[in-house]
Amino acid sequence: MGSDDAEVVVQSIQKVATAQAWAANAVRNIGNNQRSDLLTKWFGSKSSRVRQIAKQTANSVIEVLESCEIRTDEQECNKMPGVLAYVYPGMKNSQGQYVMFMCDASLNYNPLTGVLYHEAAHHPYSNRDDVIYGRGDCQELAQSNPNGALNNADSHEYYVTDLNTR
Ligand SMILES: [Zn+2]
Repeated sequence: MGSDDAEVVVQSIQKVATAQAWAANAVRNIGNNQRSDLLTKWFGSKSSRVRQIAKQTANSVIEVLESCEIRTDEQECNKMPGVLAYVYPGMKNSQGQYVMFMCDASLNYNPLTGVLYHEAAHHPYSNRDDVIYGRGDCQELAQSNPNGALNNADSHEYYVTDLNTR
């Protein structure tokens, strides 16, 4: 393991509690009907289904991050230039903790907390998918295919990032 690899693990671990706080804030906001504009922005509407799925995802992220192991695998990351992080959905270590792999590329991404939220959302029970990446494409997806947006980890990442940083 190179020093950069250790660094990405250390920095990611430092953000786990923040990602949980972001998720808890999302649950709170959805419950109180606050910042519904951000639900519309990222999921096309503020319908009860949108609210339910965004909240379910946030609650699942809280649970995953409550018991997770952050790893890095330099060889795997090097095969996927530009990939910030990845998981094998449902993969746990021998202690029953969900495993999340972070790559050096995420050290240049701001906010790293959003990446953790994205990866945790891939694990059960929310099991969100990768439909499309990037803010511009995700905002378009919210309009053209709201169900796709609801299933898209990046859309959930941007929703909580906006909620907690703007
Ligand atoms: Zn993903």
